[in-house]
Amino acid sequence: MYYSRYFLPTLKETPADAETASHRLMLRAGMIRKLASGIYTYLPLGLRALRKVENIVREEMNRAGAQEVLLPMVQPAELWQETGRWDRYGKELLRIEDRHGRAACLGPTHEEVITDLVRKEVRSYRDLPLNLYQIATKFRDEIRPRFGLMRGREFIMKDAYSFDADEEGLDRTYQAMYAAYNRIFERCGLDFRPVEADTGTIGGDTSHEFMVLAETGEDVVAACTACPFGANVELAPSSPTPSDPTAGEAEETPRRVETPGRRTVEEVTAFLEVPASRLVKTLLLVADGRPVAALVRGDHELNEVKLQRHLGADTLAMADEATVRRLTGAPVGFAGPVRLDPSVRVVADHGLESLRNFVCGAGEADAHLVGVNWGAHGCPRPEFADIRLVTESDPCPRCGGRLELKRGIEVGHIFKLGTKYSEAMGATFLDPDGKERPLVMGCYGIGVGRTVAAAIEQNHDADGIVFPVPLAPFQVIVSVMNVRDGALRAAGEEIYRALRERGAEALLDDRDERAGVKFKDADLLGIPIRITVGRKLAETGSVEVTRRATRETEDVPAAQAAQRAL
Ligand code: ATP
Ligand code: MG
Ligand code: MG
Ligand code: MG
Repeated sequence: MYYSRYFLPTLKETPADAETASHRLMLRAGMIRKLASGIYTYLPLGLRALRKVENIVREEMNRAGAQEVLLPMVQPAELWQETGRWDRYGKELLRIEDRHGRAACLGPTHEEVITDLVRKEVRSYRDLPLNLYQIATKFRDEIRPRFGLMRGREFIMKDAYSFDADEEGLDRTYQAMYAAYNRIFERCGLDFRPVEADTGTIGGDTSHEFMVLAETGEDVVAACTACPFGANVELAPSSPTPSDPTAGEAEETPRRVETPGRRTVEEVTAFLEVPASRLVKTLLLVADGRPVAALVRGDHELNEVKLQRHLGADTLAMADEATVRRLTGAPVGFAGPVRLDPSVRVVADHGLESLRNFVCGAGEADAHLVGVNWGAHGCPRPEFADIRLVTESDPCPRCGGRLELKRGIEVGHIFKLGTKYSEAMGATFLDPDGKERPLVMGCYGIGVGRTVAAAIEQNHDADGIVFPVPLAPFQVIVSVMNVRDGALRAAGEEIYRALRERGAEALLDDRDERAGVKFKDADLLGIPIRITVGRKLAETGSVEVTRRATRETEDVPAAQAAQRAL
């Protein structure tokens, strides 16, 4: 590619509304441009990086036996009504209506669509297992789109859906996906960690998130320093950060819960003095062994339904973050121990359909960590009163080692769905005995744009991006210091041709610009290798080969530059 003809508008100035390094650098390096809140255009350089991730994802999904499809983005409301998610999904679902008044939505995820396809086509156990995936645009009307591609409204996701005959089959498929995800993020050159996770509004029981470790991450994970154990601490995006645990109203004295026992929703809501509208995190307040309030992050209605099922309708109430802080003296999404009013206990839940997702074996009383799978630690199911918070001073629930809390970016998420969707939608198959049984499903997502952003978050310096080689849009940039000098230009073109012959993706900086501008842009773009064709060519016949990551530079005879660079 000739830079002079390449659509690569770089920016010298830091864009005002970009808070994170990856957002700033993707704008400055001419990778993306914003069209509207959370909606971006991918420019050629940005698209190249996205394609790198997509290709790695595609290769590993294919290798793991999944087959690529492409599902529609516009999804009829009827399908979502079948699973009940039309009413429950909340405002992230962008609902639309066509000219005939038929309701539809823009797909934020594709469980309904894929289950509809499979129920019509799959008949027999002989058709199983089946794993279908796509790499496509999703739309989620995020309440707070931010950080560029990190949290967009329109974004590219790889989503896969698996269908097995039984739980054992699903276990095998899930393991294969877990392994494929590890390979994918390793191949992307990322520092990441798989952690046990919440199953959120998707449902199901087992789930892992793949977290790229980075300071700007919106999640907090507890990671063991001695074994592979890791879990999402489920920090609510709107809550204070662990470095600022007293932000907000934590100064106030915790308020006493006077009367224990069962309460009606109205009583508790009145008692807590809050509207049910600001829900941030799943957390139950228990007085005298009875849950009196719940704090729920995410989808309001869905969580309410789950809570009602779990607790019985008359013990349900929702509280906002400030209230729980007032009651417990702790910030929500906290990462340290909570001191409670003695008559109040904080209980963490997040599946809420069962109490499987608590941690046990932690040291501190009256404290909790969510996002940990219950059965996984060989612990019995606790009573509300036994719930603990895992802090950095607590031992790892699996091996007793030291836990570290780290910020992470969720780049991938895998779930066991079980028969939740197949039962709701009547997706069945005939087993070898001719008996009709529901398909056992899993689903597996990767944020493609978010992975590129996370890679930049993890790999940059003061001068710009430092692309991991596998994600770099070009492997080499050949910078001709003065294109008006015919000999330099010819040498640059020769090296460029040699690189191309070797199959490298190369960018020839043939612009009529000053050397300083070219160096700055090359640093900004983060291309792993720069070959500088300058004054040394006439003096010694050599060019410079510089590694972006280390800035190591060596002089190499021009004729060997391409070979040395790769
Ligand atoms: P988050 O917790 O960040 O909102 P999620 O749990 O809602 O993400 P999933 O439903 O698990 O997301 O979707 C699978 C993957 O899609 C995520 O792991 C993430 O990489 C990506 N993703 C989700 N939402 C967005 C978004 N708004 N912008 C970019 N990528 C996203
Ligand atoms: Mg989300
Ligand atoms: Mg999440
Ligand atoms: Mg997720």
